[in-house]
Amino acid sequence: MKIIIPKGSGFCPGVISAEKKLLQLREKYDELIYIYGMFIHNKEYENFLKRKNIISIQDINKLDDGSIFIIPTHGIDRNFENIVKNRFKVFDFTCPKVKNVQKIIFTHKDYLTIITGKENHPETIGLKSYSSENIVISDLSRLNEKSFIEKIKNKKILLISQTTANENLYINSLNYLNNLLKISFITELKNFNTICPSIINRENNSIDLLKKQSTKAIVIGDKLSSNSQRLFLRLKTVNEDIFFIENINDLEKILDKIEKEEKILVVSSSSTPSFIENEIIKFLEKI
Ligand code: SF4
Repeated sequence: MKIIIPKGSGFCPGVISAEKKLLQLREKYDELIYIYGMFIHNKEYENFLKRKNIISIQDINKLDDGSIFIIPTHGIDRNFENIVKNRFKVFDFTCPKVKNVQKIIFTHKDYLTIITGKENHPETIGLKSYSSENIVISDLSRLNEKSFIEKIKNKKILLISQTTANENLYINSLNYLNNLLKISFITELKNFNTICPSIINRENNSIDLLKKQSTKAIVIGDKLSSNSQRLFLRLKTVNEDIFFIENINDLEKILDKIEKEEKILVVSSSSTPSFIENEIIKFLEKI
């Protein structure tokens, strides 16, 4: 079996940097470290951190004042950030690319902000708090809803994307809004494609290798992770012979569908830890 791994597979630069800082903090302090929400969207990695006394929390009322509190790479609501900074020892691991999106939104406070992405994703929840007025487009059908049309009429619009959102959603929304601008239904349109390049590059590298060199593909990632889901869905448009697995147990369930002579593209999402990827690759190498 030939195993093909695309460039950029695994943790993205934002997560690599945050993980490094987190493990340095772990060495420096003996006490429990709390992360707001998940550090990355991967259950096995959360368990790995738990064993190091690094705990995900949602309810800050359970924490003592002065606790170590980590803001994860996808950022948090800015009003909530002010609250936690007054109570805890806060370390901000928000990815610089997410911070950039927050900054753009904040400097366009007099615009109605339209964010393409998932309404309840932690990054989107944080981004919304930087705007004075916002709408989230999770699905193109939203663009035709009466409530949406009424809300944007005669407004200055800022269109921006969650860093891990679907690019087609952003591009189609932009085309739609450009048409509304042409007929003066909206008064101004500013747009920023803030989809993370490391995600796009990984997807494009994978698609290229899947088209030219591979017979099948395996995407490794947590089913809860946005970037894992979109990686899987994009690759599936190129080749239907693709599997989405979370760990070695899932791999064992699909082994009967993989032949020894195959050329398998194996790609991990930006929230898949290397210990999961390495275990899977070692297993495949023995087939
Ligand atoms: S996917 Fe991109 S934006 Fe998100 S943490 Fe990684 S580098 Fe930052």
